[in-house]
Amino acid sequence: MTLDALVIAAHPDDAEISLGGTILRMVRAGAKVGVCDLTRGEMGTRGTEADRTEETRAATAALGLAVRCNLELPDGRVRATVESRQALAAVFREHAPSLVLAHHTQDLHPDHAACGQLAREAWYLSGLKRLAESSGGAPAHRPKLLVHFQSHEDFEPTLVVDISSVWEQKCEAIRCYASQLEPTGKNDRGEHFLFGADILARAETKARYWGEKIGRSHGEPLLLQGPLAIGNPLDIVGFA
Ligand SMILES: [Zn+2]
Repeated sequence: MTLDALVIAAHPDDAEISLGGTILRMVRAGAKVGVCDLTRGEMGTRGTEADRTEETRAATAALGLAVRCNLELPDGRVRATVESRQALAAVFREHAPSLVLAHHTQDLHPDHAACGQLAREAWYLSGLKRLAESSGGAPAHRPKLLVHFQSHEDFEPTLVVDISSVWEQKCEAIRCYASQLEPTGKNDRGEHFLFGADILARAETKARYWGEKIGRSHGEPLLLQGPLAIGNPLDIVGFA
């Protein structure tokens, strides 16, 4: 299926937590949006692989995704290898998105950082005609734009998406991952091991911080890979 936008995330729930609002806004505008998770999250501290598969199905419906696929790379060991970038480039060619959104290449979680690097390399390779022909399958297709989203490490964004109108729906999508939100025992109070606050509270703190930066209630930060070409700067302020 041809997609307008494709999100590349390391673990099931990353797309919802980091980018759920942006996805919902694109879907509500009529776009076909897909998510390709790189792993099944089988090394996660909480929940089983079966839990996460079921939860991912519910979250996929909550976001209104057209496609959800999984590269089945090993959780905790994601790397941009020849094999993994070939596999992701094949996903880019198959779904031919105009826009790709992936983790940033600098992140505390090595899988997230590797995901950002892998997306950049696959983005380039997906446009090589002879490589596509030698791989079989869909013809070469390089997405027009690759942008990075934020997870465990901050960056100064070039865009902040206003997600105020879909904030509650984003929370519903995150709540689908109940195994990740609920404490599993007396030594687990449902807090993230690094950041203290629970996942939903942390998502809200970040969304309100970025929302405040753009004069809205909630926002999600994005970083463009390079400068964006525009014909008329007045387009930015809605000049008709
Ligand atoms: Zn993750």
